[in-house]
This record gives sequence, C-alpha cells and structure tokens, in this order.
Amino acid sequence: MARIAITGGAGFIGSHLTDLLLSLGHEVVVVDNLFTGRKTNFEHNLDNKNFEFIRHDVVFPLYLEVDEVYHLACPASPEHYQYNAIKTIKTNVLGTINMLGLAKRSKASFLLASTSEIYGDPLEHPQKETYWGNVNTVGPRSCYDEGKRIAETLAMNYRVQNNVNTKIVRIFNTYGPRMLFNDGRVVSNFIVQALKGEDITIYGDGTKERDFTYIDDIVRIMITIMNSKRKWNHEIFNIGYGNSISVNEMVDIIINYINPNYNKVTYTGNAEGDVNKTLAVNDKIKEWFNESPKIEIHQGIKKYIDWFKNDCDS
Ligand code: NAD
Ligand code: UDP
Ligand code: UDP
Repeated sequence: MARIAITGGAGFIGSHLTDLLLSLGHEVVVVDNLFTGRKTNFEHNLDNKNFEFIRHDVVFPLYLEVDEVYHLACPASPEHYQYNAIKTIKTNVLGTINMLGLAKRSKASFLLASTSEIYGDPLEHPQKETYWGNVNTVGPRSCYDEGKRIAETLAMNYRVQNNVNTKIVRIFNTYGPRMLFNDGRVVSNFIVQALKGEDITIYGDGTKERDFTYIDDIVRIMITIMNSKRKWNHEIFNIGYGNSISVNEMVDIIINYINPNYNKVTYTGNAEGDVNKTLAVNDKIKEWFNESPKIEIHQGIKKYIDWFKNDCDS
C-alpha cells in the first residue's frame, strides 16, 4: 500500500483516479484549491480512513510525506483556464516546481498530467510523442499550452538533475461522468444542450477533429504507468483512443442517444485559437505496457448520457 498525493484530486480526472487508487487499497491525499473541483466529487470517500482532503493552492509550498505524487492541479477546460490566464501560468510553473520539490524531498515518484495541447495546432498527423508541436506562444490558449510545456520541461529536468522518478503522460480529450454541465468542453456542452432542448452550439463549421477517450481508460492507464518498474530515461506517453472524430460527428453520436430527430443546432464563429485536429499515436503504451483505451466512443457517450440522466446531482 502506498501513500499517494493527488493534486487536482477534486476535479474530473483526479476524482476518478482517487476512487480507483482507494479501491486498490492505497492511502490518498487530495490536494486541491477547489477552483474547478467540487467537494461532491469526493464526499463519498469522507468516511474512508484511507482518504484525506487538504484544501491547498499548489502555487504555495506544501510539506507532506508521500510515496507518489500524481500532479493534475490545473483547470483543463479552455473556458476555465482562460478565466485567469496568469493564474493558470502560475499553477503550471510555480505549482509544478513546488510539487516536484515535494517529490524530491520525500523521494516520491511523480506523474505529470500533461496534455495533447502541448502539440498546439499540430502540423504533423497523427501525433507521436516525438513530435515537438506547433504552439502560439502568445495566443489565448498559450497560458495552458505553454504552461504544460514548461511543466514537462521541469519534470524532465528534475529527473535528470535531481534524480526524481518523474513520468509524463500526454492526455488527449477525455470525457465521462463528473465532467459537469458548466465545464464548457464540447461533449458536456452538447449533451446538456440536447437534454435541455437548447441549441447545440458548434464553433466554426464543425469540421474540427479530436481524439476522445473515456475517463475509466485514462485513469487505469495512468496508474499502470506510475506503477511500472520498467527502466526508462526520457519517456513520455500519449494516452488517447487513437481515433479522431469531427465535432459534427460528435453531435450525431449524442443526438442518436437522446433524440435522433433533434435539429436545434447553431453554427457560431470559430473559437479564437482553436486547434484543427488532434489524433494520438498510442503505439507506445501498447508496446510498453500492453495497454490501450478499450471504451469505444458510442459506448462511452451512452454511459456519460446515462450518468447525466440518472446520477448527476446538479
Ligand atoms: P478539472 O478542472 O476538473 O480538474 C482540475 C483540478 O485542479 C480541479 O479540482 C481544480 O480545483 C484543481 N486546481 C486548479 N488549480 C489549482 C491550484 N492552483 N492548486 C490546487 N488545485 C488546483 O480538470 P480535469 O479535466 O480533471 O483535468 C485534470 C488534469 O488533467 C489537468 O492537469 C489537465 O491539464 C489534464 N488534462 C485533462 C484533459 C481532459 O480532457 N480532461 C486532457 C489533457 C490533460
Ligand atoms: N517544496 C515544497 N514542499 C517540499 C519541498 C519543497 O513545496 O516538501 C517547494 C519549495 O517551495 C521549493 C520548491 O518546492 O522552493 C522547489 O524545491 P527544490 O528543493 O527543488 O528547490 P529549492 O528548495 O532549492 O528552491
Ligand atoms: N466546441 C464546439 N462547441 C462547444 C464547445 C466546443 O463546437 O460548445 C468545439 C471547439 O471549438 C473545439 C472542439 O469542440 O473545436 C473541442 O473543444 P473542447 O473545448 O472540448 O476541447 P479542446 O479545444 O481543448 O480540445
């Protein structure tokens, strides 16, 4: 049994990671400032003696004794990370330095939740881990994209210079329960709009493409990578399904489960700085860990819609 800190553990991905690690018998300390996270994401764990919540902003130092750090603290939806761009940068730079300092001092392994966004608006398709990306340093997404890029640089340099056992995963677009009605990302927006009978808001012409992965696959693979004892030097792993679909196709998948005759759709202007297309090459996790996402998009969207209908509390 390990003692594990999860920064951002009150958020969408972090709360699922918490549940899975607790179910495996580990002790989990969630470190979160509740900016986009919610207490309801972990209140079912409050009676578990292996669970602890610390309300803390990672921009400030934190002293804990742990064996592992999963570093997820950072708003992930464009709407949320652009709300206070400078804070997003501080979270990624100062927050990552602090959590790496913590890992160094307590000799903990450290897994950074990086993102496909470090590829920017990629000029290489699909994206392999070896691609360096095409990022606008001063665009509206740069606080997040560049923030995550420096977080990767920090993780790599703490590994080389300070011998911290750091690992980096580049997560592609993730969806599933606990991604809320007000999250602002495409899948939750469209499902909520269709369930409420509102117009589905397509930014641009709906031809932008993303590689969507269901939450359960993401957290299982993160844990596999953290637990791997295989020796490596500078390894980085994409976690994505390996199939991209357009925003228009996403509308079709969603309304097929809600109301196949649904026709309330509006096309608005392009979102500024929007990325054209992302698609993960996920061969590396297959080769290294015999792992790949299993939940196909139609199945995952149905599970997520069922959650909105039956279990979502707000
Ligand atoms: P989320 O917004 O639901 O969760 C982020 C959590 O971090 C929230 O609980 C928030 O309160 C917390 N947080 C933010 N700033 C903090 C700070 N300064 N100190 C302490 N806590 C802070 O987002 P998510 O989708 O769960 O994403 C989690 C991580 O995974 C992020 O690092 C994100 O960049 C990464 N990621 C997510 C996706 C995705 O599609 N969801 C894709 C790629 C990478
Ligand atoms: N830090 C922390 N918790 C710890 C150890 C360090 O938050 O348990 C922070 C501390 O603020 C420090 C940063 O992590 O500034 C980086 O630590 P490191 O040891 O790399 O550098 P230094 O202490 O020399 O600045
Ligand atoms: N999008 C959209 N309508 C929405 C929300 C998003 O058309 O209500 C588009 C957005 O412009 C982008 C894609 O869906 O092309 C994915 O957006 P999201 O914010 O989910 O993720 P990201 O752009 O960060 O990959």
